[in-house]
Amino acid sequence: MTHPGSPETHTRNWKALALVALGIAITSAGHYLTPASLRLWHSLFQRLYYLPVVYAAVAFGWVGGLIAGLIAAGFYVPHIVTTWSHHQEYALEQYAEIFMFLAVGIVTGILSDRERSRRAELQVTARKLEQVNVELQNTSEQVRRADRLSAIGQLAAGLAHEIRNPLASIDGAAEVLAPGGEPEAVRRETLAIIRKECARLFRLLTNLLDFARPREPERRAVQVPQVFDNVIDLVRHSGGKRITFRRDAPPDLPPLLCDEEQLAQVILNLTINAVQAMPQGGEVLLRALRAGDGILIQVQDEGEGISPQNLDRIFDPFFTTKDGGTGLGLSVVHQIVTQHGGTVKVNRNEDHRPGMTFSLFFPQTGKEQS
Ligand code: ADP
Repeated sequence: MTHPGSPETHTRNWKALALVALGIAITSAGHYLTPASLRLWHSLFQRLYYLPVVYAAVAFGWVGGLIAGLIAAGFYVPHIVTTWSHHQEYALEQYAEIFMFLAVGIVTGILSDRERSRRAELQVTARKLEQVNVELQNTSEQVRRADRLSAIGQLAAGLAHEIRNPLASIDGAAEVLAPGGEPEAVRRETLAIIRKECARLFRLLTNLLDFARPREPERRAVQVPQVFDNVIDLVRHSGGKRITFRRDAPPDLPPLLCDEEQLAQVILNLTINAVQAMPQGGEVLLRALRAGDGILIQVQDEGEGISPQNLDRIFDPFFTTKDGGTGLGLSVVHQIVTQHGGTVKVNRNEDHRPGMTFSLFFPQTGKEQS
């Protein structure tokens, strides 16, 4: 982009001026040096004046066009007077032509002025846009930084809260265990509490590590129904007899390119949640089906469901409505699925049936790693 007044503009103006002067000089010389008998040549030269005039108009606007026209006329008129005075009709035609190239100079100049000012406006707009773009980038960087800080703050607050409760229990239990204290039965009960709280802390830390240091998926061709079976085996006894498990997958379901361990972890977290949502019992359905260019995996329960105000928060780290919950299960689910390029959706069951359905979509885009 060049600016008026810049060295490039100066050079360009001088070049244009020289070309206009040269054009007028050559054309005028042509007139003066060509004998009057070669009328055709004179007609040609007379029209050649248009070139420098139009060029001046384009380069310098209507004033440039007018001045170039006047200078051309200044050179041309004496030639008309001296050479064509005896031929009045032809001379009049020549004067009319002078009037024309003045008019053409002015009109072309006005048009080029208009074009120039439009270009200048466009340049101003482009500069403003550039500025706005830079400001926008700065602002979004600030927002990202604020977001990161607030996420770290939330994480720290959640973690502190999660650790304080078991610590308080363990501290209280330690007092009970002081020498010479409570009878044997109470001491045993207290030890059980310590174990339980330690297990809770251990679970919290394991989930937290999964969440905070996610590893890159190692993709292999994984048989999803096989993963369903493994997960069902793991949780079968945790829900008691009142929970039944069903798995639904077409026999021709293609293998899913994914990290098997991570997929198992995702399905396990969702299945545990499903079981915990049905204290009165019910069925957990694990379903897999082909969907477009990927595979859809669903975990459905018949539990108490999720209230609309909690629905927005269930994927937030440390959000939990359970007594011993860590609130990290769904965060890990979300993270693993996203790392696989997939999506997670959660819906209430259709047809007013109780419970929720978590749907995971995995695209089949990954490459198998050897
Ligand atoms: P946690 O299970 O430790 O609470 P999660 O991140 O797995 O942590 O779940 C967060 C919250 O989402 C749960 O406390 C519960 O309120 C809700 N939730 C998750 N799955 C279900 C479900 N299938 N039915 C009802 N509520 C659920």
